[in-house]
Amino acid sequence: MRKPFIAANWKMNTDSQYALELASGLEKAIADIQGVDVAVCPPFVYLQSVAKSLSVDGNVAVGAQDVYFEGNGAFTGEISCEMLKDVCCSYVITGHSERRHVIGESDELINKKTKAALEAGLKPILCIGELLEEREADKTSEVCEMLNRHICLIFKREADKTSEVCERQLREGLKGISEQELANVTIAYEPVWAIGTGKTATSDQAQEVHEFVRGVIAELYSKEAAENIIIQYGGSAKPKNTKELMSCKDVDGLLVGGAGLKVDSFYEMVKIT
Ligand code: PEP
Repeated sequence: MRKPFIAANWKMNTDSQYALELASGLEKAIADIQGVDVAVCPPFVYLQSVAKSLSVDGNVAVGAQDVYFEGNGAFTGEISCEMLKDVCCSYVITGHSERRHVIGESDELINKKTKAALEAGLKPILCIGELLEEREADKTSEVCEMLNRHICLIFKREADKTSEVCERQLREGLKGISEQELANVTIAYEPVWAIGTGKTATSDQAQEVHEFVRGVIAELYSKEAAENIIIQYGGSAKPKNTKELMSCKDVDGLLVGGAGLKVDSFYEMVKIT
């Protein structure tokens, strides 16, 4: 049985005071909820104060939104795995679409970060997901080309770009990671077109990709590894669509952006998850 796991990615939001209010408000609100793992991922600068404000044996864990793979040294602006552990982080997000597409991180760099996190004893949440144009390439397209007055050539193109992208990000992201280490990895399927847009994947779309991801894990590792791995969905998840998303057989939890910035909405989601 996979235990549901819901994490809030605060991104570059909150300030020092609101970060504490949000964390402690959430901890209080979910104190009696059992059977679900919960984490919050504040900006780096608030990690320590948020972690300190939460009770050690409480049910809210702390995660970082990124990490660097080197241990220490001349890497201006970067944060190491040991630094994250030093401030009581247990999770770290790797490969978030904003890091891939806004900052320009490659699969190779994301793999290095994911591996470094595991080696240090952190639990990575490896994000994968297709862009809008990649999702749209999946639609059967009909192209009509006038070759001359009398001939119209129609051809159909069936592509499966979503699977191709997710499979590549998974294979590259997990390169060199053993089956034993995989037990500490969470995969987050986050279609880029659904992140922060208010457009959520339908439960059929989410289930289809989650099942596919589990299949890739079975191929890369084993059936057992595939059965055990937690696969979160992310992309405009909110209280209104949590029940439907969580009813999918292969959706084991959520990675939440906007709706994780308010105690009430995130509490609702934790309750439903
Ligand atoms: C995210 O940033 O991981 C995310 C899913 O954001 P939102 O829920 O706001 O779409």
